[in-house]
Amino acid sequence: MTDFFFKHLLQKDGWKSNIRVSVDSEGIITSMVETTNSDNAEIISGFALPGFQNAHSHAFQYAMAGLAEVHAVSHTSDDFWSWREAMYSLALQVSPDQMESIATMLYSEMARQGYTNVAEFHYVHHQKNGQPYDNLAEMGSRMIAAAQTAGINITLVPIFYQKGGFGQEPNDRQRRFISKDIDTYLNLLAASEEACKNYTGANIGIGIHSMRGVEPSCIAEIAKNGPQNIPFHIHVSEQLKEIEDSLKHLGKRPVEWMLDNVNMSNRFHLVHATHLTDAETKGIAQVGANVVLCPTTEGNLGDGLFPLKNFQNYGGNWSIGTDSHIGINPLEELRVLDYGQRLISHQRNTYTSPKQGDSGQFAIEMATLTGRKAMGDISTEFFAVGTTLNAAVIDEKAPLLATTSAEKRTSTIVYTADATQQIATIVKGKIVVKEGKHNLQTPIRSAFAETLKSLSNR
Ligand SMILES: [Zn+2]
Repeated sequence: MTDFFFKHLLQKDGWKSNIRVSVDSEGIITSMVETTNSDNAEIISGFALPGFQNAHSHAFQYAMAGLAEVHAVSHTSDDFWSWREAMYSLALQVSPDQMESIATMLYSEMARQGYTNVAEFHYVHHQKNGQPYDNLAEMGSRMIAAAQTAGINITLVPIFYQKGGFGQEPNDRQRRFISKDIDTYLNLLAASEEACKNYTGANIGIGIHSMRGVEPSCIAEIAKNGPQNIPFHIHVSEQLKEIEDSLKHLGKRPVEWMLDNVNMSNRFHLVHATHLTDAETKGIAQVGANVVLCPTTEGNLGDGLFPLKNFQNYGGNWSIGTDSHIGINPLEELRVLDYGQRLISHQRNTYTSPKQGDSGQFAIEMATLTGRKAMGDISTEFFAVGTTLNAAVIDEKAPLLATTSAEKRTSTIVYTADATQQIATIVKGKIVVKEGKHNLQTPIRSAFAETLKSLSNR
C-alpha cells in the first residue's frame, strides 16, 4: 500500500485540493479522501492531470524523427510516399535488440512528457529475410519489455499487413510486415497476447494496417469473427491517393466501404480518417466509432486536416497519438489540432460542446477518455477508486500557473505549458518521472546512443 497526497488533482468537474489517494501494489486506487493529513504520504505538489493516452505509435520510427526534412531542391514531389520509402529502409534494418532499445528510449520520453499509456501499432514482425522468428511475437515482446523498463502501460496492437496496395501483392520491402492470410495473423495475435502476460502493464488490441494493406473481405471477416472484446485499430483515409485507389478497386471510399461492410461500434479506432465526406464524418459518429488524430505527424507528412468540428457536432469522439514521433508532447498535439481548425474556420472555439465551454477541460477529457478506450479501458472518471492511478503532474511554480485561478488553470496548462513544466509522471501508482527526469534516464540514454551508433542512420 502506498499513499499519495495530491495538493491539486483534476477531476471531470474541476480542480480538487488536498486529496489523499491510497493505491495497492498494482497501482489500483483503494481510497480517495479530502484531508489535510499528509503524514507518511508521498506529497505531490504540482497540478495532477489524468495520465495522457498515446493512442497511436510506431516506436521504431522514432529513430528517423527529423531526418526526412532535407529535400532535394529540384524534387517537387516530396510527399508521404517518399517519406514511406525512408521508413521502409529503417524497418528492414532494425534487429530485436535495436528495436527494444529505441522503444525504451521513446517510451521513457513519452513518460517524461506525461503519457502513461501507449497503443503500439506494431507491424515489423519478422526477421530481416521475411521469415517469422521462432517466437512469432519476438518483436512485439520487445515492445512490451521496453514499456516495462520505461515504466509505462502498453496496449500492443499487432498489425495484420497483407498487401502492397489495393489489388497488389506485397513488395519485397514489406517482407518483415506480412501475414499472408487470416489464420497466419490470428496466430501472431495469439502469440502477442501470450507475450502480454509477461508484464502487468500490457494488454492486447487487434489491428489492420489499412484498407490498402489488407484484402477488404478479410477486414470484414476479422471484424465479424475475430475477438470482439478488445479494441480494433485501423489506419484509414490518410492520403488522397488511397481514396482514389479505393474508389477504383471497390467503387467506394475507404470509410464509406467500412461503414457499409463492417459492423463498427465504439471498440473501433480509425487512425487519421483525414479525408472524409460529410456522410462519412456523420457515419463514424453515428456508429460510435472513434478517431485517433496524430496532429504533429499529420502536419509533418502533409496529410491534411480532419473535419473535427463537424465530427464533434455529430457527437464523434477522438483521441491523440504521436504516430511517427516527430513530436511527443501531448499538449503540443492538442494545440496543433486546435490551431489547424482555427486557421480554416476563422473561429476559436474548436474544443467546446453544449455541455463544456472550457476548451482545455474539453480537450483533456476527450483525449483521456477516448484514449483509454483505445487501450481497452472503459473507465470514465479521471481518478476513482477501483481504477489505476496514472497521472501527469504539471509544475505549480511555473510563472503563469502559479498566478492562475483554479477556474482558468486547465486551459492555461493546455495552451501555455511547455515540456519543462511537466515535472512528474505516476504510472500504476509508481513515480516514474520526478523533477522532470525519468528514473532510468542515464542508462536508457546511453543504451540508445549505442543503438543509434550501430544503426548509423542519423
Ligand atoms: Zn500510423
